[in-house]
Amino acid sequence: MSSERGPDLPPVADRVLLDAGSIAERVRELGAAIAEDHAGEDLRLITVLRGGAMFLADLCRAVDASLQLDYMAVSSYVGGAPGAVRITKDLDDDIEGAAVIVVEDIIDTGLTLNYVLSMLRARKPASLGVCTLLDKDVRRIVDLPVTYRGFSIPDRFVIGYGLDLGGLYRNLPYVATVRDEAIV
Ligand code: 5GP
Repeated sequence: MSSERGPDLPPVADRVLLDAGSIAERVRELGAAIAEDHAGEDLRLITVLRGGAMFLADLCRAVDASLQLDYMAVSSYVGGAPGAVRITKDLDDDIEGAAVIVVEDIIDTGLTLNYVLSMLRARKPASLGVCTLLDKDVRRIVDLPVTYRGFSIPDRFVIGYGLDLGGLYRNLPYVATVRDEAIV
């Protein structure tokens, strides 16, 4: 796949930022690093639905170590503190004493993840790390322990590989930038 506009690019997008091959290669590297760092631990990969599910599915198959998966879902509090969320689907398993890595599709300001991490930290995992595929680090407001980072990306709204615009485009196999006029 080229990094130029291709025939399969939806009209809301202007270019492919990361093609499927580059993502797959980086996912393999991240998986190998996680396996090396956490061999022999009670490893849990957790994601916050829905965007991170696709990354988690690929990442976990690149980790050559014993691990468990778990999922949570949150929704933001209207009128609450910045980043404050309420859990709409909690983890199924207790994480006390486990080596937990929160797997995210993208970190922007970091407010949401910061809030999620504080909730998880209260459950006393042995360690708590973050693995994000994409990092808009120039927009970060809060300091976060990003242990594994796929790609640093510019301050553009992106879709694909789990990321949506109005619920669509999560199934694109690549990450593309969205035209400014398509963002309402
Ligand atoms: P944060 O709290 O870090 O500012 O952002 C949290 C959420 O905003 C992300 O998990 C993601 O759902 C959404 N988000 C931030 N940037 C983008 C983007 O470029 N594209 C899409 N589709 N969602 C984004």
